[in-house]
Amino acid sequence: MFIPTTIADQYQQAASDNLRILVVGAGIAGITAAQLLRRAGHRPVLIERAEDGKHPGYMLALMPMADGALDELGVREAYRAASVPFHDYAMRGHTGRLLRVDSMTRILQRYGDYRGISRGALIEVLTSGGCAVTLGTTVGAVTETAEGVRIRMSERDHVRELDFDLVLIADGINSSTRELIPSARPVEVVDTQWGGWVVWAPAHAVPAQRGEELWGVGRFAGLYPVAGAVGVFLGGPRADTAAGAAAFVEQFRRTLTVVDPPIEAALSAVADDPDPYYWSLTDCRSAAWTTSRTVLLGDAAAGFLPTAGIGAGMAMESAWVLCRLLRHAHRENLADVLSAYERTQRPRVEAAQDNSRGLARLVFRRSRALAVLRELAMRIASVDVAIKPIQRLLADQPKPDEIAASVG
Ligand SMILES: Cc1cc2nc3c(=O)[nH]c(=O)nc-3n(C[C@H](O)[C@H](O)[C@H](O)COP(=O)(O)OP(=O)(O)OC[C@H]3O[C@@H](n4cnc5c(N)ncnc54)[C@H](O)[C@@H]3O)c2cc1C
Repeated sequence: MFIPTTIADQYQQAASDNLRILVVGAGIAGITAAQLLRRAGHRPVLIERAEDGKHPGYMLALMPMADGALDELGVREAYRAASVPFHDYAMRGHTGRLLRVDSMTRILQRYGDYRGISRGALIEVLTSGGCAVTLGTTVGAVTETAEGVRIRMSERDHVRELDFDLVLIADGINSSTRELIPSARPVEVVDTQWGGWVVWAPAHAVPAQRGEELWGVGRFAGLYPVAGAVGVFLGGPRADTAAGAAAFVEQFRRTLTVVDPPIEAALSAVADDPDPYYWSLTDCRSAAWTTSRTVLLGDAAAGFLPTAGIGAGMAMESAWVLCRLLRHAHRENLADVLSAYERTQRPRVEAAQDNSRGLARLVFRRSRALAVLRELAMRIASVDVAIKPIQRLLADQPKPDEIAASVG
């Protein structure tokens, strides 16, 4: 639960900490980091651009790399209660025919939980016990010196300048605060030229604990279970979706020879929604993540395409690693700690992003010949093969305390 608080109140507390920390963006990464820091005794200032603190509602399939943060926050049981197991993954070919169903549990359970949760429910879990935040607030200027970072921020109409020792920039894939950090540029962007709609369908749209995807010819449908609902994504090349949701659904339907109930539910959910949320499928990768006193976190550092469903998991893992390292930080060694963080975490996140980009090249295509070849390959290779790089990351967990020891 968000506890709306003024900047003045938050800063008064932070000012007497050994490290005065600002967290920009109360999304998955920013909240995880702020709450972990608070648990470790810090009193960071958390700001969020949204005026009302309402969360954009969409589905998240959360990989086990989130577990470290959930455990350390003591909310694993609350998380399990607010989510559903994602046991099976069903794959459909371009005609709509069901090709195979694989057990995600078999692949992932040795590493931890793989569950479906809505973004809003996850934020409620992460903020259970209360999370102070100043809403309607953004950063307008960042001036870094050897002594600290001066931040100009606007809290609704009120502009003020405040000094911090460390700024965590976690304002998402389209981060405007990142623009104020010259070393973050250039920000490399993969634009798939695809986009689509995100809506909710009833929980019974798919068999219990099962997610489904249809990889079509210039068409994609995904259904992902959360508690009490199924999140749907329906998309294609932006040139095709430009016709609007209803027209796109009709075109999509005409490409199918088999329309089983889950796909019918996905098509209807998009066609019937009066104002479906449109998602352009691009990602981003910042040139550098850290300066001596600032760090990009979550999607602001590396924003993900939906393929592999890993952005939130990596954002939470990064927040956990960073906050563990910060336990060993003070003003004098902060730059070294941040460098160690970037050296450790950036290769992991970029490996996950490469996996996601590779899958996007396979999925977001409009060639019928490729679709047929893809489907032949799927007869022998399961999702197990598709997410091998991610499994390697899960098998080789980061060890922040060892890294901190090497920083001194
Ligand atoms: C439809 C959809 C489905 C997804 N599915 C999955 C999935 O299945 N599994 C998965 O792991 N990931 C998934 N992701 C990705 C995942 O949501 C992101 O990787 C994750 O939310 C990143 O967290 P973040 O905190 O970096 O960014 P966000 O969660 O986007 O949070 C950024 C926050 O910063 C705030 N903000 C923005 N600008 C400013 C500013 N200037 N000043 C202050 N605050 C600002 C925003 O309002 C927001 O609250 C999905 C994403 C979408 C859109």
